Amino acid sequence: MASIFDNSIEFLKGVGPQRAALFQKELKIFTYADLLQHYPFRYEDRTKFYTIKELSADSAYVQIVGKIVHTEILGSRFKKRLVAKFSDGKGSIDLIWFQGIQWILPNLRLDVEYIVFGKPNLFGKKLNIAHPEIEPLASFQEKGVSLQPIYPLSEKLRARSMDSKYISKIQRVLLNVVLPYVVENLPNPIIEKLKFLGKREAISEIHFPTDKNKLELAQRRLKWEELFYLQLRLLKLKLVRTQKFEGQLFDDTTLLKEFYSNHLPFTLTKAQKRVIREIYLDMKSGKQMNRLLQGDVGSGKTIVAFITMLLAIGGGRQGALLAPTVVLAQQHFHNLKKHADAMGISIRLLTGTTKKSVRLKLFDELQAGEIDILVGTHSLLTDEVKFKQLGLAVIDEQHRFGVAQRSVLWKKNDTTLPHILVMTATPIPRTLAMTLYGDLDISTIDELPKGRKSIITKHQFDSNRLIINGFIKSQIELGRQVYVVYPLIEESEKLDLKQVVDGYESLSRAFSEYAIGILHGKMNQKAKDYEMARFVKGETKIMVATTVIEVGVDVPNASVMIVESAERFGLSQLHQLRGRVGRSSEQSYCILISDYKLSAEARARIKTMVETTDGFEIAEMDLKLRGPGNLLGTQQSGLMDLMIADLAVDGKILQHARQTAIEMLEKDPELVLPENLPIKKHIESLRKSVGNWGRIS
Ligand code: ADP
Ligand code: MG
Repeated sequence: MASIFDNSIEFLKGVGPQRAALFQKELKIFTYADLLQHYPFRYEDRTKFYTIKELSADSAYVQIVGKIVHTEILGSRFKKRLVAKFSDGKGSIDLIWFQGIQWILPNLRLDVEYIVFGKPNLFGKKLNIAHPEIEPLASFQEKGVSLQPIYPLSEKLRARSMDSKYISKIQRVLLNVVLPYVVENLPNPIIEKLKFLGKREAISEIHFPTDKNKLELAQRRLKWEELFYLQLRLLKLKLVRTQKFEGQLFDDTTLLKEFYSNHLPFTLTKAQKRVIREIYLDMKSGKQMNRLLQGDVGSGKTIVAFITMLLAIGGGRQGALLAPTVVLAQQHFHNLKKHADAMGISIRLLTGTTKKSVRLKLFDELQAGEIDILVGTHSLLTDEVKFKQLGLAVIDEQHRFGVAQRSVLWKKNDTTLPHILVMTATPIPRTLAMTLYGDLDISTIDELPKGRKSIITKHQFDSNRLIINGFIKSQIELGRQVYVVYPLIEESEKLDLKQVVDGYESLSRAFSEYAIGILHGKMNQKAKDYEMARFVKGETKIMVATTVIEVGVDVPNASVMIVESAERFGLSQLHQLRGRVGRSSEQSYCILISDYKLSAEARARIKTMVETTDGFEIAEMDLKLRGPGNLLGTQQSGLMDLMIADLAVDGKILQHARQTAIEMLEKDPELVLPENLPIKKHIESLRKSVGNWGRIS
């Protein structure tokens, strides 16, 4: 039975086919349900007014009142814009429209008092507000709104006057039609215990808040509900998997013990021991392991991966290690090979650059079970790669791979699934991990090996070249090596390449007595390998590079990381880069070089880097500054399409919702108890319905 929520918005009064098409294209809103869940992302307190004199480019969204004193159309073709000079008697500001001029201009009157709402920006030396909301003061006062909902929009919608006011209008129409059909989808005991608003009231308040208090209640309930259903789904997935899939049983620790007593080059940290134990318990549980191993850069994940593989090999199976880049695969291979050789374990490398003859032989040996460990890149995922029996697949740097690749590895065995260990060096805030990896178990290495000195981080401006160069020189004279990293942003690849090459040349002039290497994405593999090898051997003292060295590269003697144009890097990237140094017991340094002019956000990023080396703290800050949608790996996950909850700020709600879901599933795994009927019904209705409503929950 189709429900009213599946109706196309085309048929809603005030929409029609053309606007419906635009809604679909721009905002993926197809049905009544989609529109109902198109929640405002903020509310404007329309009781507060600014004077134009108070405004600056740093102001957030503001509301001003005044009159238009002049309009003109400037520029032509692509640069064409409508400029209206807006004055409140004491100051003036330009209102600018680039699109929809033909609709807007005829409606602008010179004799009317307007309320203007928007974000001031600096253009040249003048302040302006582009594409403001504008409304006659009289009609504004008539409505008496105090909390005006602001909806997510696109430029195209704005240009067609489908702005927040318009959406609010059609939400009103929609609510009149559907509110009676909205059913409560949380159990009564939960609503009572948490003092939640009922679903209908919450939906109504979120679009048309009566006051701040009611709005907060509505937000709290809808956020909780959204996160609860998300967690319920992830936890159910996990439950189904652990019940359904048997795991290979590995409990032979002979190889492990031999490695511990004869070949382990250092003592493991407490944290390493703990996670190895967690993994071991999984691997001998008879259930398939799906575990995320997170640990800051330099925390020693590689050795954990190797030790884990020893369990699989001891059980007569094979291990695979998947790395995101050739450089990393090679490095892992060389590191593991030392240990493997000592143990008499056969290990091989497979990348896109492996010669065909070598490759074919390797495939045969792999299938015959003559290879114990295969390290490689994406090439490992191709169909030709067939293991005799894969016992454990380790995936390094997960965020470069998607869930899809994980499942390819799953299927490498015909009979039992391999255990999966996902390693990530990008610390993920708890809230995000619970959502992104909610179906995985999580192990955390929260301790660095002993004797590591905390990296000293400094911010320097461009103009202090002499000081910076002097410092580089003093470090090289102490026998250390130095990275100098330049940003690489795809859109302007040429320009960036020029920066690296220029940087290389000027360093070569400044340090003519030392050999300097260069590494960037436009070099062929051979040249890259050559340069990297020279640096690893210590032949080159300075490595000038783009972010190709960002992930995983391990050269312990390199103790200085210089980041050029640091303002152009994201926080997690800066943290990754800094992690390239501090890999020995020598004091390491990270110098972030920037322009004098810095945006507030760039300043916050650099400040964070200078103040802390704790990856988790940095990740939390990153989440706050950028929002979860922009964090690595979240885009393709599909899990981040949250309608109202915000992982950057709703961590507490998430934790509570998850805990509730866990307890509920423990007590009632099939959700058959009468009190949980609303949940069961809701999930069923989601399955039946189409569009976003079904997709998100
Ligand atoms: P990451 O977690 O960033 O992948 P690695 O596995 O590359 O870190 O380890 C970083 C460095 O620390 C390597 O040179 C490794 O040999 C070393 N290492 C790992 N564990 C320990 C330990 N317990 N004690 C001393 N050094 C260690
Ligand atoms: Mg690593």
